[in-house]
Amino acid sequence: MLCCKHCGSTNVRVQAVEKQKKRGILMSIIWIFLAICTCGLILLIPLLTKKGSKTTSVIVCQDCGKISKV
Ligand SMILES: [Zn+2]
Repeated sequence: MLCCKHCGSTNVRVQAVEKQKKRGILMSIIWIFLAICTCGLILLIPLLTKKGSKTTSVIVCQDCGKISKV
């Protein structure tokens, strides 16, 4: 059972938050490098472009309004 880590209330809501990684520039350089090596073929694979960010879940308390990690 999920509960607020601040007030202990179980009246909480789980929210998905997208976080940007700090290595975005490095990933872009690798991306461009791979694109050149594969003659742009890698650009057809959209899955790899989503590695720059990841989705995490947070608990939003409906009583005290504070956000805590799952
Ligand atoms: Zn709370």
